[in-house]
Amino acid sequence: MTQQEILDLIEETNYSKVPTRPKCQNCKKVMVLYFIVPNELWYQLIKSSERSMEICIDCFASKGDEKMIDWSKDIKFYPLPFVKQVEVQEVTPKE
Ligand SMILES: [Zn+2]
Repeated sequence: MTQQEILDLIEETNYSKVPTRPKCQNCKKVMVLYFIVPNELWYQLIKSSERSMEICIDCFASKGDEKMIDWSKDIKFYPLPFVKQVEVQEVTPKE
């Protein structure tokens, strides 16, 4: 099945939860590469009002580069292919 076929099926069958990946709350793009950095680096680059936000690697890297900070130290990446999101998402009927 293609991604579009799966999305169409969910639409047709009246299910509410579309299998999807988080969206960056800064640039609104779908995050295909999740990442984790040490808290110290997160606090250094992300202002307190934005710390609970999901931010993509592009936006995070921009913030680091603007401040001339090496944002690569101890960074870990987790790719999020659509097909795996479909597997892990639980579909729940609409009310
Ligand atoms: Zn972003």
